[in-house]
Amino acid sequence: MNEKKGRGKIMIIGAGGVATVAAHKCAQVPDVFREIMVASRTFSKCEAIREDIARRYGRDIRTAQVDADNVAELSALIDRFRPDVVLNLALPYQDLHIMDACLETGVDYVDTANYEPPDAAHFEYSWQWAYRERFVQKGIMAVLGSGFDPGVTNIFTAYCQKHLFDEIHYLDILDCNAGSHGHPFATNFNPEINIREITQPVRHWKQGKWVVTPAIIEEGSVHFTFDYPIAGAKESYLLYHEELESLVQHVRGLTRARFWMTFSDTYLNHLRVLRNVGMTRIDEVDYEGHKVVPVKFLKSLLPEPASLGSNYKGKTVIGNIMSGKKDGKGITRYIYNVCDHEEAFRETGTQAIAYTTGVPAMIGAMMLLTGVWQGTGVYTTEELDPDKFMEALNTYGLPWQVVEHAPLPF
Ligand code: NDP
Repeated sequence: MNEKKGRGKIMIIGAGGVATVAAHKCAQVPDVFREIMVASRTFSKCEAIREDIARRYGRDIRTAQVDADNVAELSALIDRFRPDVVLNLALPYQDLHIMDACLETGVDYVDTANYEPPDAAHFEYSWQWAYRERFVQKGIMAVLGSGFDPGVTNIFTAYCQKHLFDEIHYLDILDCNAGSHGHPFATNFNPEINIREITQPVRHWKQGKWVVTPAIIEEGSVHFTFDYPIAGAKESYLLYHEELESLVQHVRGLTRARFWMTFSDTYLNHLRVLRNVGMTRIDEVDYEGHKVVPVKFLKSLLPEPASLGSNYKGKTVIGNIMSGKKDGKGITRYIYNVCDHEEAFRETGTQAIAYTTGVPAMIGAMMLLTGVWQGTGVYTTEELDPDKFMEALNTYGLPWQVVEHAPLPF
């Protein structure tokens, strides 16, 4: 174990689906995670995680109530517990406040989603990259986006760049959820963040520029049918996703980068209706003298993502298709993971989307605690060595494989 971080103490912030999985996975690895605290806004949710972990693994974890937007309150909690790393699994709105608290207390930071201001549905790394110098000065490290996408998809790219390619020219990330939860409409992670993300105009990277195309619910959206391993043929929609922003900066020779996600017609129709009647608005409206943000109200009506697991059946298949050159020859490789909703539920009580995010979040923290990833400043995962992370994916529940594949035909 790394001397700097020898105590193996982690503080997880948030108590939703992703935090639940990460807490379970940390509890399963007592050699690395010797002391665990789950701190979130709603204390009863932290306690539910604590009780489940005690029942399943006979381990006692700590819990606390905290408002992560209150930097002084969070810093005081960090000072009392003195973790070696803070794992932020609250919402993107909290990112900067939690980074401020880490700066104040001198503790390393890991998250899974980049900052997004509450009043504008726009996410990008610039706000968090602006912390680089201050993290260097303080001698601490931040690892941004250690979920599946972003996170594992970045690591997959870094691994292929290191071992399989001399140059990667085309990168296509394909995210398929072929599972069914039995609800007419629900989102697999926080509904507010999810709906804000997927109703945006789409961008992909081509020849050094961002190309804008219509949002997935608009006329003219770009989609094609891809035949996924195990899941079969699914309609896959071009979507802007945050890992594209950092990958286009860090991958040698990249001339095109795109992200695709599967959506059913039923899902898209629900979303169109909700958008058309104003339920996806993020600004305040006046309702009988009360200020209401429609998308927040909608969130309160939809099933909690963490609760979807009990009836969820089917698989997720997420991975990258990359074309480029090795030893002067053109090659294409497909690297992916298949995860099963029912198995994820049996192990952690949540569904596969939370599982595929919570496992790499735990592994990111593990890379810091064990000293595999060291440094000061602010990093995205493809900037760090991928090998031990890739091994850990196989060990801790997200096995991957890499196969030859035909280049995408367009
Ligand atoms: P949930 O909504 O289920 O959980 C979020 C948790 O954060 C809740 O427990 C919530 O508390 C807590 N929280 C919110 N605000 C505060 C605050 N001010 N102080 C303390 N706690 C707070 O979300 P998910 O678990 O689905 O998602 C968690 C994160 O993971 C999100 O940032 C999401 O974008 C990211 N994600 C990343 C993915 C990836 O692959 N990289 C994929 C999926 C998700 P309360 O219970 O009171 O609401």
